[in-house]
Amino acid sequence: MNSIEKLCPNCGLCCDSTLFADVELRAGDDAKRLRQMGISFHQKTKTKLAFYQPCPCFDGNLCRVYASRPKRCALFECGLLKRVQAGTMTANAALKKIAGAKNRANQVRELLRLLGQPDEAAPLTRRYAEAMAAPVDLSDDQNAERHGQLMLTVNELMTRLERDFLR
Ligand code: SF4
Ligand code: SF4
Repeated sequence: MNSIEKLCPNCGLCCDSTLFADVELRAGDDAKRLRQMGISFHQKTKTKLAFYQPCPCFDGNLCRVYASRPKRCALFECGLLKRVQAGTMTANAALKKIAGAKNRANQVRELLRLLGQPDEAAPLTRRYAEAMAAPVDLSDDQNAERHGQLMLTVNELMTRLERDFLR
């Protein structure tokens, strides 16, 4: 089993909107095939199409269009994958870091649900921004406490993502 097979089916953080809010298409990407798989594109810039994450092609473990996935996806290797491939980290150590990051991301999603941001189809960063922009009801102790917990948990998650996955 190679490093991708060991790590990625246990992770999915680069497909479920935890690491990225969207995926830009590049020249040569099979937009027709991706549309057939249920992906809707938006015009990100004058010349670039993109689609939002969570990706509709992510089944919770694997990519359903792996053979024709966009170049951006095929070329991305997170820091953990690079370190395991280079032999500077064991797969077990990387899996522990993945589990820790997924745990924090799940805590963020649960807090967003409790704060009235139930749209699981929207990128995590957008849901967080909307939750933080909403007025905090200071007469409701639980609501104020959840806002505080959300900020702390997102900070912890970002620290893990930047340290372990994005470098
Ligand atoms: S973030 Fe890394 S380990 Fe996780 S699915 Fe993406 S490439 Fe694989
Ligand atoms: S196309 Fe596949 S690899 Fe790319 S974001 Fe979607 S599920 Fe992940």
